[in-house]
Amino acid sequence: MPEGKIIKALSGFYYVLDGENIIQCRGRGVFRKRNITPLVGDYVEYEAENDKEGYVLSIGERKNDLVRPPVANIDQAVLVFSAMEPAFSTMLLDRFLVLIESKHIEPVICLTKMDLADDLKKLNAFIADYRKIGYTVVETSSETMAGLNSLEDYLTGKTSVFAGQSGVGKSSLLNAIRPDLALKTDEISSSLGRGKHTTRHVELIPAAGGLVADTPGFSSLEFDGIDVEDVSSCFPEMAELSSSCKFRGCIHINEPKCAVKQAVEKEEIPSYRYDHYLQFIEEIKERKPRY
Ligand code: GDP
Repeated sequence: MPEGKIIKALSGFYYVLDGENIIQCRGRGVFRKRNITPLVGDYVEYEAENDKEGYVLSIGERKNDLVRPPVANIDQAVLVFSAMEPAFSTMLLDRFLVLIESKHIEPVICLTKMDLADDLKKLNAFIADYRKIGYTVVETSSETMAGLNSLEDYLTGKTSVFAGQSGVGKSSLLNAIRPDLALKTDEISSSLGRGKHTTRHVELIPAAGGLVADTPGFSSLEFDGIDVEDVSSCFPEMAELSSSCKFRGCIHINEPKCAVKQAVEKEEIPSYRYDHYLQFIEEIKERKPRY
């Protein structure tokens, strides 16, 4: 049975990419009966009627899925942050990182507008902090094209979703990588970035030897579904120290002999990372119970 990946879903059709071929498929009734809706990103088995049309027969197990945009089997999230306009914020970056870590999606931090950076010393210190934690940080400029080859290397062979505030340069990056798409920069970002309550259709577009969602992910930055005990596992430098804490299940706030607090005191963990950790915990504690 041939296999492929759904790259687009529109008006009851699923467009299945198999090698270089795209087959327009209908779903067999079996999905509706089992209450499974095929998602863009799903690996499927299909039956070909001819070289252009066919039927989706079964969906492979999903490794993850996002609600906004509705897409499955994301390998990595490219977190796009501008050096300037808007200014780089570790607070917002950490928020995105927690959301992505909690979904078990690999993050790639992509700094844009490096051509505008005015305080490189400060920015480089932050970059060094995140690299020390183990994160990939790519420095780019869609203006000078710096760093774009490096970003493309990370996209190859993977399915990626771009995420980041409106105006940071996501569409400019995609345009630089796939100039033929000619996404309208500001126009696209306002229709995509703020359309929180509209479920726009999402399409995976081939780019740099991988697939990239044409709609930014993580438009909601709420910690829905994340509990207080989960947060430290979303901070890799804390997670790796947890087993050295005196108390099992230590959440690194008031417990004595906490390896994380000791590392913060010794400045092995940046204090701003720990402050954000505490702030996120507070936010989750204050969350109203969901009914
Ligand atoms: P998006 O909302 O994240 O998709 O951001 P856009 O790609 O629409 O970019 C927002 C604005 O920033 C546009 O006016 C772009 O021309 C500008 N911009 C994007 N990338 C760069 C860059 O690397 N350098 C400079 N100087 N401006 C950029």
